Amino acid sequence: AVTLVWFRDDLRISDNPALARAAEQGDDVVACYVLDDGSEGIRPLGAASRWWLHHSLAALAASLTELGIPLVLRRGAPADVVPRLVEECSAGSVLWNRRYGLAERTVDAALKESLTDRGVEATSFQANLMYEPWEVTSGAGEAYKVFTPFWRACLTFRTPRTPLPAPVSLRGPQLASDELGDWGLLPTAPDWAQGLRETWTPGEAGAHARLDDFLDGAAHGYKDSRNLPAVQGTSMLSPHLRFGEISPFEVWHAAQDHKDSSTAEDIRVFGSELGWREFSWQLLYFNPELATVNYRPEFNAFAWERSTQAELDAWQRGRTGYPLIDAGMRQMWEIGWMHNRVRMATASFLIKNLLIDWRVGEQWFWDCLVDADAASNAASWQWVAGSGADASPYFRIFNPVLQSKKFDREGRYLLRFVPELADADNIHEPWKGAAPGYPEPVVDLKESRERALSAFKALSQG
Ligand code: FAD
Repeated sequence: AVTLVWFRDDLRISDNPALARAAEQGDDVVACYVLDDGSEGIRPLGAASRWWLHHSLAALAASLTELGIPLVLRRGAPADVVPRLVEECSAGSVLWNRRYGLAERTVDAALKESLTDRGVEATSFQANLMYEPWEVTSGAGEAYKVFTPFWRACLTFRTPRTPLPAPVSLRGPQLASDELGDWGLLPTAPDWAQGLRETWTPGEAGAHARLDDFLDGAAHGYKDSRNLPAVQGTSMLSPHLRFGEISPFEVWHAAQDHKDSSTAEDIRVFGSELGWREFSWQLLYFNPELATVNYRPEFNAFAWERSTQAELDAWQRGRTGYPLIDAGMRQMWEIGWMHNRVRMATASFLIKNLLIDWRVGEQWFWDCLVDADAASNAASWQWVAGSGADASPYFRIFNPVLQSKKFDREGRYLLRFVPELADADNIHEPWKGAAPGYPEPVVDLKESRERALSAFKALSQG
């Protein structure tokens, strides 16, 4: 008998429960990936994610070839494509690892039903979250509203299971496959991906290399260094986790195994960041429209859009005249990733100083980030806006000048991404002196802050 393994957000061979089960069954295995541009409601990937996906699929295909089977690439709606594949190879069962977005769940549930109707067994597995979103709920069986009790309840509920080994060899038939290069996932002209190529190694080996580097290096002192954008203070595992090139169970256990008296607190904090990822997915599971609908409905009355297109352009291109904001936006443009503290500052600037709807920023990040994640991106934007769960209150407005003075005092991060500041008299506040080639501030910090606070006050007074 043949088992079909449908890869999705789990582009890895180790700790992959669907693949492990297929290998266990000792059957012939067909591995496939379907580029879904046919199902309703599936959010199209952003440009940076498409770049990542291309390379990640190439890496997965190479690993599978080493194990003995090809990766079959097909394009279209899985509702059509997967049953066709089942027929082509006479598969008796189809295995996959679960996804949690509403549109994805709808596709998967319908497919499961139609396969079962045809007498084909369809089985799904938990692979990409350490806790299923419905497993650890608040009293009323709902999503937690606050992170700390959620994460405490998770850790009490169960220790994350230990990772599964990768299969050692597989066999299976050859099936026709699309050419990856024909999918057009890579940029053509202009080729904006140079900085991405220099920064990242998409794929499972690259993910494990990042993890090892992190545990040998930045994990020591993570609690503090995670706030410093100029240093390699975090794991940079986010795109690898997003595409499932490494599982959270693998990351969790590797970190726990690394714990000693000097790193215990660092590892605890790192573990809780993985917890934020789980929290975001629970929020998305229970609030499928998290990327478009205010979690707190009172924000529906908020009067956004006080800014001009020129101000939005300045933010997107990293030309606001505020060094930390510009460095962050340019970092994202160059390497498809931005430091977390700077994500908070740039998001706050858009939402509060420019009074632009958080959804506009969410979409821009979705397009530019290699780790663009349906749950974490939406939940984080709502967190900054104040409209989200356990959110930063609206009146917390990041001051980009104080933030860079505090977390990048020598301006090393600023200079890396905004090199023209090398000629500025004052790197944190360039408008206070000469700053050749660097733009004037698009808005005044104090005025725009007051404007935001009064808009918020109007909202809270209904
Ligand atoms: P580390 O500090 O090494 O953390 C380890 C892992 O924990 C990360 O890889 C990530 O999977 C998870 N994690 C860490 N912080 C968070 C968080 N606040 N929320 C959820 N998960 C977290 N993260 C994404 O993965 N995708 C996104 O699209 C995304 N968009 C964001 C948008 C905004 C406006 C903000 C403020 C944050 C966003 N984050 C997003 C969260 C966070 O910035 C990134 O996860 C983190 O910077 C990734 O870097 P790292 O892997 O080095 O993190």
